[in-house]
Amino acid sequence: MTSYRDLLREKQAKNWIKAALALNITKEGLHEFVEDVLTCVHHDIYNTIRTSKSLQSGAICLHCFTENVLQCPTRGICTSPKNCRFHKAANQMYVPCPNGICGGVRNEIIQHHRFTGPSWMNTNADKWCTSPWEIGKCFLPPDGYKTVSSVKDSDFNSVISVMMNCKDFEKKLSFNIGAKTNLLSEVRGFGRIVRHSHDQKIEDKPLANIFFKLRSLLEDQTDLANRPEAQHAVEQLNQLQSDELNINAQNELEMLKEGLRLRLNDHYQTTLDNMPISPILAEKDAKLSSCYVAPTIIEKNHKKIGRVGQSGGREVATFSDMFCHEGHFLRNVILVGEPGRGKTTFSAMCALEWTHQYSQAGEKIERKERFGDSDFFLESLHFCSMLHYEIQVRNAI
Ligand SMILES: [Zn+2]
Ligand SMILES: [Zn+2]
Repeated sequence: MTSYRDLLREKQAKNWIKAALALNITKEGLHEFVEDVLTCVHHDIYNTIRTSKSLQSGAICLHCFTENVLQCPTRGICTSPKNCRFHKAANQMYVPCPNGICGGVRNEIIQHHRFTGPSWMNTNADKWCTSPWEIGKCFLPPDGYKTVSSVKDSDFNSVISVMMNCKDFEKKLSFNIGAKTNLLSEVRGFGRIVRHSHDQKIEDKPLANIFFKLRSLLEDQTDLANRPEAQHAVEQLNQLQSDELNINAQNELEMLKEGLRLRLNDHYQTTLDNMPISPILAEKDAKLSSCYVAPTIIEKNHKKIGRVGQSGGREVATFSDMFCHEGHFLRNVILVGEPGRGKTTFSAMCALEWTHQYSQAGEKIERKERFGDSDFFLESLHFCSMLHYEIQVRNAI
């Protein structure tokens, strides 16, 4: 059988690694450009509002939350108007802005959006006045970026999406962003090719095309070509393309982890995102995040364990409680319970939580009280452990 070391030395596998690195280099080359355009969008929006409402030049509002500035129902985020899951509390209802600003900003964001469907779930309206990026997040994919605090912390897909969805980038690029197929849509497609590659291999010809198109974007004459960070990215792309990419022990491990992570991420997202809503209605699936209720889990001493239902033991309230003891990872965790108590769903939810740190476009799972420490999964060290745990938990069912 071929060893993984031999596989990593295959030309097509090296090509895939080069493509993944090239996307990252390109993203970094675009950061400042995107930040600058979003800063202009922010200025334009506030100047328009202040002028039209005769407000002082520095007038701001820090009071309105996203729920307060959107009428119910708003397409794409509100559920039933009578029992809306977005406008769900008395202080989370629509209310006109006390400073006469935020409603106008909302309308301007809609005007600046190419498809007039801003991603309201991503944004924090109380920060609109002070942060161009908070307005920029309205131009990202529909959900999953609420806590992403800057362009730099965002992913490749979101950087390209904001350029495609925000009309102000039209004037900053030489090609027609409105065309069905354009340089940005092609480049966004490369991200998908790399993420969804089932064997982590890319042939020479498609790789050459990826490098060519990424360079074309970074060398766009209207603005990007004059920017040092874009020029630096082009230099790095040239170097990477001609590099032999020698695999040593250190980057070998990194590559293996990256490959496994991307594939696991895809696997969990496609297989676990929807679950049957009931054992007797197995054909009826629902989005896990929309109906998930965290189970009550009690920690038991395995040496003293009696009947499953026996009382006593500490309630497991967080992921850390579940997987750690006195700051150390537990080697084995056994989850025991009657059929239908949610063991499978809990393990699926753990795996999905892990994927959310990498695939920011995913929908966060809502939890009222228990298991609110989803940051538990943010450290990369937990990655391999998570895989192990998920298997263990599932096998114990
Ligand atoms: Zn609503
Ligand atoms: Zn306001």
